[in-house]
Amino acid sequence: MSQPTHTTAELRALDHAHYLHPFTDHKDLGSRGTRIIERAEGVYLWDSEGQKILDGMAGLWCVNIGYGRRELADAAYKQMLELPYYNSFFQCANPPAVKLAAAIAEIAPAHMNHVFFTGSGSESNDTVLRMVRRYWDLKGKPTRKTVIGRINGYHGSTVAGASLGGMAPMHEQGDLPIPGIVHIPQPYWYGEGGDMSEEEFGLWAARQLEEKIQQVGEENVAAFIAEPIQGAGGVIVPPSTYWPEIKRIVDKYQILLVVDEVICGFGRTGEWFGSQYYDLKPDLMPIAKGMTSGYLPMGGVIVGDRVARTMIDEGGEFFHGYTYSGHPVAAAVGLENLRILREEKIVEYVKQEAAPYLQSKIAELADHRLVGEVRGVGLLGALELVKNKATRVRFVEKGTAGTLCRDICVRNGLVMRAVGDTMIMSPPLVIRPSEIDELVNTIRQCLDQTAEQLGV
Ligand SMILES: *Cc1c(COP(=O)(O)O)cnc(C)c1O
Repeated sequence: MSQPTHTTAELRALDHAHYLHPFTDHKDLGSRGTRIIERAEGVYLWDSEGQKILDGMAGLWCVNIGYGRRELADAAYKQMLELPYYNSFFQCANPPAVKLAAAIAEIAPAHMNHVFFTGSGSESNDTVLRMVRRYWDLKGKPTRKTVIGRINGYHGSTVAGASLGGMAPMHEQGDLPIPGIVHIPQPYWYGEGGDMSEEEFGLWAARQLEEKIQQVGEENVAAFIAEPIQGAGGVIVPPSTYWPEIKRIVDKYQILLVVDEVICGFGRTGEWFGSQYYDLKPDLMPIAKGMTSGYLPMGGVIVGDRVARTMIDEGGEFFHGYTYSGHPVAAAVGLENLRILREEKIVEYVKQEAAPYLQSKIAELADHRLVGEVRGVGLLGALELVKNKATRVRFVEKGTAGTLCRDICVRNGLVMRAVGDTMIMSPPLVIRPSEIDELVNTIRQCLDQTAEQLGV
């Protein structure tokens, strides 16, 4: 019954021979070898060589309730015996999917009462693109097709997701974006604010949306899509003026607002959703990641009444869906994850204890000679590494300081991610104050070692 065991060297050899990894330079990986992660508990990982690593990224922004929760394994096991799979096409449903849709509607903003299930965040954004266009067709305005996204936004890696996102290297590798998707600048004040104050820059960045609507023609614009706080782009927290101005513009032109909650959803900001943190009224919210705390793959789109009522009341089949939409085992795990988040008051813990503590501790790192800015919201944080704090001048080749720091972190038993020269973190929501101390102390030590190796 059990699989044969392999040594780390054997696993690395098999990996190199057979496994094409996501977002990876395989030539480079081949020379460095993979790190095999074997097990995890709470906020810690263990690799196959026995090294214990504090997971400052919650996997990939997803393990919100932490590792090793038996209840989720039990929920999956039970559901697999009861009903491992059935589809939600052809007038069918299964109990966990129905209950999960209702439970999500309860925590979502009041005007959002429906959920369309998918298998991932990328799929959710494919659904968004289809649904937005379906909505305007039903409204008798088929010219409204263009979706406006943001440069350096991230909405996944499928053709639609990568097109809605604004990652230049992704666009270069596949003739993206596809037609009907355009982008405006990001609200990244530290990197791009120039001489403007943070507030001025926030307004400027938001008003790029209005300019783009006028340029494309109001009658052609379907929606605007954005993350509440950009995650993969470098934990970019928009200036306080940004979202209120975006709301004004979206209202004025009556375009749909899509708020990508794949990272911010399920407690990351200290509210259930980033939209609640910024007081937004989205029409669609793609979700995934924290939805199941990553224990099984699942995503969805939370649909506001404006779009849901149109789709339901106008009728007609929406020719879209996935084999695994509303997968019963993933839904059972999602339900159990939500029960734990609620009963253990984890979102309240983030808001009242963990987030204020983490933010105050990382703010202390601003005195470090490598750190140009510290920013964050909830349990998201970022440190900008610069050569010169006063002028914001970077190290010569972009990403060298970040990559070096990231590698030093791993050697010191900490996972952080580098986006260019921005070090980012997104630990499990259940991280305890003593573990936050360990996280921040390790970061400081790693910054020292990075500075030393850079010779500053
Ligand atoms: C991760 C992410 C996605 C894509 O989710 P996948 O499950 O990797 O397809 C989409 N949007 C945002 C904001 C993300 O962070």
